[in-house]
Amino acid sequence: MKLEDLIKPASSCDSAGIMPLLFVGHGSPMNAIEDNVFSRKWTEIGKTLPKPKAILSVSAHWETKGVHVTAMKHPKTIHDFGGFPKELYEVEYPAEGSPELASETADLLRPAEVLSDQNWGLDHGSWSVLKRMYPMADVPVFQLSLDYSRSPESHYLLAKELAPLREKGVLILGSGNLVHNLRMVAWDKLNEPGYGYDWALEADGKMKQLILAGNHKALIDFRSQGRAFDLAIPTPEHFLPLLYILGLKKDHEQIEFFNEQAVAGSLTMTSLRIG
Ligand code: ZN
Repeated sequence: MKLEDLIKPASSCDSAGIMPLLFVGHGSPMNAIEDNVFSRKWTEIGKTLPKPKAILSVSAHWETKGVHVTAMKHPKTIHDFGGFPKELYEVEYPAEGSPELASETADLLRPAEVLSDQNWGLDHGSWSVLKRMYPMADVPVFQLSLDYSRSPESHYLLAKELAPLREKGVLILGSGNLVHNLRMVAWDKLNEPGYGYDWALEADGKMKQLILAGNHKALIDFRSQGRAFDLAIPTPEHFLPLLYILGLKKDHEQIEFFNEQAVAGSLTMTSLRIG
């Protein structure tokens, strides 16, 4: 053990020794290789968070029938997108997996049946963010899938079972986007930072209010929140990772927003750290 490890124990998470939670709006996969306000903030977060023992990522980009957890020792980097520059397809994120923690996660989620996965790896919801947060890829990463047969409430309740992982120094990362409507992207406004449609800004603002007010019920019931939410969440996969982070929040924990910015009209990068 190094001297600095003795002086600063790994459990310097918070007063209770619990790892913070993160929901990150990942946006374009190009954020993995572009130097911009979002990716710079990810780098900063990586430096300010206590160093995790491992990372459990709940990414918008892994939807399955039933709950799956990646359990391989060496997850591959998945380039799950089309039409981007060659440079992006060459990015590798060689973090190790954690078969042990994957198995523990499956145990925690019982009686839900969790499939131990050997085929997936790290999709861009995970690696585009982690590449900036932990560029050395020196923290093991494993993923939990989004079971598309579950209701939003069921995702929220399932998340609560993951709480013991936080106490073991595992960073639970939800990676999606609060507002994510690709059909309505204003391609001509891609280079206009902060440009958001009225409904996108309205939904994003209301989501932040509900998060701060602890009104998780309204967020779980996002389908009943009116037109702005319907446009912001045309399909649930980018929103559901938020419910995992909220499900794990303890009452006393502080919430800090970052990257609160709209992109190309119909996306927001709004992200939060809890604890
Ligand atoms: Zn995405």
